[in-house]
Amino acid sequence: MRLIKRLALRTIRPFSLAISVPLVLAASLASAPTAFAAPADPASAEASASADGPGEDPPLVSPEAVRDLGVSPEASEPEEVGSPTSFAPRASRNTIRLAKYIARSGDTLRAVAYRYFTSPSLLAAVNKLAFGPEADPVLPAGETIQVPIARGSPSGFDQGEQLLPGPGMHMSPNLERKWGRPQVVRLFRQAFTETFKRWPQRHPALIGSLSKAGGGKLGRHKSHRSGQDIDVGYFTREGNRKEWGRPSVKDMDMERTWFLVDYLEQTGHVAAIFMAPDVQKGLYTYAAGRGVKAERLRALFQYGPPGRANGSLIRHSPGHRDHMHIRLWVPEDMPEIRADRAT
Ligand SMILES: [Zn+2]
Repeated sequence: MRLIKRLALRTIRPFSLAISVPLVLAASLASAPTAFAAPADPASAEASASADGPGEDPPLVSPEAVRDLGVSPEASEPEEVGSPTSFAPRASRNTIRLAKYIARSGDTLRAVAYRYFTSPSLLAAVNKLAFGPEADPVLPAGETIQVPIARGSPSGFDQGEQLLPGPGMHMSPNLERKWGRPQVVRLFRQAFTETFKRWPQRHPALIGSLSKAGGGKLGRHKSHRSGQDIDVGYFTREGNRKEWGRPSVKDMDMERTWFLVDYLEQTGHVAAIFMAPDVQKGLYTYAAGRGVKAERLRALFQYGPPGRANGSLIRHSPGHRDHMHIRLWVPEDMPEIRADRAT
C-alpha cells in the first residue's frame, strides 16, 4: 500500500451554488402548520428533553468497534482495552486511543471511519493517507490500519472556543455549555452561516449543548465532554421555531437538514450523527429523491434497504427525536495525535 504523507485536507469543500430544488414559496411557508407544542420555558425544556436529557447519551464507541476491535462499550479505561497503541502526554485528558484493524476487501476510508465512530479526516491523518473531500479511497485488504477510538471520561481540551450567537443560530440559554475545540466550533459556525445564507428567511438552527469550557463531565453524558459534540434542533418549515419540540417528520425542513448534513459530511470531519429512525427515513427519502447515489446513501444512513453489512454515519440512538447530535473529529484539534506522530 502506498502511504502518502501529504494530507490533502480542506476545512470546507468549494461549494456549488447550483441548487436544483426550488425554494419553498413564501405562501406555503405562511400556511405551513405548526405541528408541535412548543414548551413554555426553553431552559427547562432543554434540560428535560435535550441537553442533559435522561434519554440522550449517545455512545462513544460503536457496536462494531466492540465486535471487531475488542474495545469495551464504555471505553472507560484505555488500559483495559484490546491492544491499542498507547501514547502518553496528558494521558488523563486524551480523547482518543488507537486500535488496530486489518482492512477487509472493499473497505473504503469513509466506511471504516463511520463504522468505528471516527472521522475520515482523522483516520487518514493517523494513517498518513491522502484524503480529500470528494475522495473515498479504497483500503487494500489485509493492510493494518490504526483506528482512533474514543476514550471515556475524563476527557477535555485545553484551548477551547465558544460558539457565540451569530447568523443562522438561535442559542439555547446555556451559553456556558457552548464550548468546543477551536476547529470544531469554527466548522459548526461556518455550516450554520452557509445554511443561513441560502435560506435567510427561514428560522435559525436551534443550538443546544456542546461542552463546558475545557470540557470534562457534563451532566450524565459520556459524550459532550471533549468539545466535539453538538445538539441541534431539527429544522422545520414553520417560521419561528425557537424552542425544543418534536415536529412531525412531514413538517421538517429536509432541504436544509440535508444541506447541513451533506455540508459537514463532505468536509471529512464528521465522526457520527445520531438521529431518530423516522427522521432518518425522511431525510433518506429526501436525499434519494435528490439523486444522491445509493453507495453514498449506504455509507451515510443506517436506514435503508436490507442487507447492509456495515455501520453508517447516521444512526439511531435513543433520545434524538427532538434534536440531532453531531460529533466532529478534526485532526488539527487533536494534540494527542500530533504527540503520537512526533515520537
Ligand atoms: Zn447530544
